[in-house]
Amino acid sequence: MPAAYKIIDHTYDAVVVGAGGSGLRAVMECAQNGLKTACITKVFPTRSHTVAAQGGIAASLGNMGPDHWTWHMFDTVKGSDWLGDQDAIEYMVREAPAAVYELENAGMPFSRTDEGRIYQRPFGGMMQNMGEGPPAQRTCAAADRTGHAMLHTLYQQSLRYDADFYVEYFALDLIMENGACRGVIALCMEDGSIHRFRSHNTVLATGGYGRCYFSATSAHTCTGDGGGMVLRAGLPLQDMEFVQFHPTGIYGAGVLITEGARGEGGYLTNSEGERFMERYAPSAKDLASRDVVSRSMAMEMREGRGVGQHKDHIFLHLDHIDPKVLHERLPGITETGKIFAGVDLTRQPLPVTPTVHYNMGGIPTNFHGEVVRLQDGNPDSVVPGLFAVGEAACVSVHGANRLGSNSLIDLVVFGRATGKRIADITKPNTTHNALPKGSEELALTRLDHFRNAKGGTPTAQIRSEMQRTMQKHCAVFRDDALLNEGKDLIAATYNRMSDVGIQDRSMIWNTDLVETLELDNLIAQAVVTMNSAANRKESRGAHVNEDYPDRNDGEWMKHTITTFTGWGGTGGATAIDYRPVHDYTLTDEVEYIKPKKRVY
Ligand SMILES: Cc1cc2nc3c(=O)[nH]c(=O)nc-3n(C[C@H](O)[C@H](O)[C@H](O)COP(=O)(O)OP(=O)(O)OC[C@H]3O[C@@H](n4cnc5c(N)ncnc54)[C@H](O)[C@@H]3O)c2cc1C
Repeated sequence: MPAAYKIIDHTYDAVVVGAGGSGLRAVMECAQNGLKTACITKVFPTRSHTVAAQGGIAASLGNMGPDHWTWHMFDTVKGSDWLGDQDAIEYMVREAPAAVYELENAGMPFSRTDEGRIYQRPFGGMMQNMGEGPPAQRTCAAADRTGHAMLHTLYQQSLRYDADFYVEYFALDLIMENGACRGVIALCMEDGSIHRFRSHNTVLATGGYGRCYFSATSAHTCTGDGGGMVLRAGLPLQDMEFVQFHPTGIYGAGVLITEGARGEGGYLTNSEGERFMERYAPSAKDLASRDVVSRSMAMEMREGRGVGQHKDHIFLHLDHIDPKVLHERLPGITETGKIFAGVDLTRQPLPVTPTVHYNMGGIPTNFHGEVVRLQDGNPDSVVPGLFAVGEAACVSVHGANRLGSNSLIDLVVFGRATGKRIADITKPNTTHNALPKGSEELALTRLDHFRNAKGGTPTAQIRSEMQRTMQKHCAVFRDDALLNEGKDLIAATYNRMSDVGIQDRSMIWNTDLVETLELDNLIAQAVVTMNSAANRKESRGAHVNEDYPDRNDGEWMKHTITTFTGWGGTGGATAIDYRPVHDYTLTDEVEYIKPKKRVY
């Protein structure tokens, strides 16, 4: 039983966990509709990972050449390798232009064309004419700091509304009653107090879980806490085997160099100075989709044409681009190159390597942000009171591979849709029923357990073991042997959590407790990712199993639905099920895009 904690109670119509782009947009929509709204965030809102987004946000504005939402839809479906749900994709691309103009009206400082319109750059896999080409200039940018501009705009706007912010509060677990979500329990990290948020609607906008890998472009805060909470509530996660490797992380540092660098004319070379992408993707070349470019780079390195002493990286050239253009369009990465690679990229190539960047998988939802249950055979039944949005969610618009600049648009389109849905089904200030006895027990028993963990293995050691196993056994190229060995290794690492010991107990400010809670969230998702990957016997998008090199639509055009069943030191067992990909669109203004071979 948990120690006697004093619990501070709050009641809301809507509680949003997370203050990144998706969380803030949902908060604004709820508050605007007169709902009593709270936002809980473990970091100050403008430190959320959205702030680090560089290249841009996709919408078919057509400011710099012809474009149409149906072209954006085609590219997103093709990019997803036909695992995306086309009803949700249609919703996103149709809403995208309005969402960008809304950001513009809210004061977001976009880069401009000479005529004063929003500047748009080419991005990987974004084409004109239903994939036929030439490349479409669809990605709206604020230099190479688009996420920074967007998050600050959203945060400032959200302060106009009457929403309460709980900053540096760490959400621990959902409050569930008879299959419905009734709110969330959080720890105030400043003073250790426990807060019980009763809410008619709880939105998980907690971001991705990139940190279960050793080398990731994501912030150290990207620990998938929402996914961990969902698994502990006995609910499944979807398509977790699809992990995106970005082609251009700085070698050694993992820091991102935006795809916008290639959008502005940058290109990759191997040790022979060859522009090898021309061989792998004759038409899109360096702007093929991310899974294709990352795999091509890995092939070059494998065949001995990597650069450097260990032949373990690739060069990205920007040295042929006018320094004035670099200064105006890519100032941030010019600085990043200098700091993290010691390279003056107006004169030298940058050493880069594929680096973990984005999680296509997550908490399964419909396009209203409602979490779908998927366990009772009815694909439409939802978990009452529970929503998910942003990178934490899987709608699924990105399927097996996300196109660059499609995440920022996903955040605002579905952030708004989620808030709208909540406003539609909730009367402001509806009274709250009493909670069942022991509603806080799951959260507090776990907190107590880790607070008193006196085992012999430091958190950092288990985390590092997990990250190295994922990096080696669940990366760009996979095969059955590698994955099966990975399953055993990650299960063994999971078991070591029962011997975890919190360090520095004497210190007043003990970050090791929160890091252990985060690791506990990460490792469950690492197990789910590895097991889901080992189970998928085909190659699709970001998941490539070399024993099954082709996409197999007959057997595998389906979403993976994985629950975690092995709690405690039981090797982290999972139960895996599948559901069909939606083979329909939202309206009859566009036809279902039939699967075909994916070439760039
Ligand atoms: C370096 C980088 C560059 C990128 N560039 C682009 C780009 O140019 N274009 C594009 O489309 N996409 C880009 N992406 C992807 C995109 O930025 C992310 O997918 C997106 O910003 C995620 O937003 P989010 O709202 O889901 O969550 P995040 O922005 O990650 O925010 C998560 C929020 O959840 C809160 N939180 C998490 N756990 C808890 C908890 N337990 N308790 C309380 N609060 C919690 C955090 O405090 C935070 O506020 C990039 C990603 C990276 C890493």
